[in-house]
Amino acid sequence: MGYKCTRCKQKVEIDYEYTGIRCPYCGHRILVKERPTTIKRVIAE
Ligand SMILES: [Zn+2]
Repeated sequence: MGYKCTRCKQKVEIDYEYTGIRCPYCGHRILVKERPTTIKRVIAE
């Protein structure tokens, strides 16, 4: 399952057995799921 950090915009691979979802790059704890079939255009630069 792919996730994306809402702060640094890095792709994060999260295993559900992993305890504690957080971005390994910046430590942010809010990640959004990436849905391969329904990708909306997002301009967040
Ligand atoms: Zn991050």
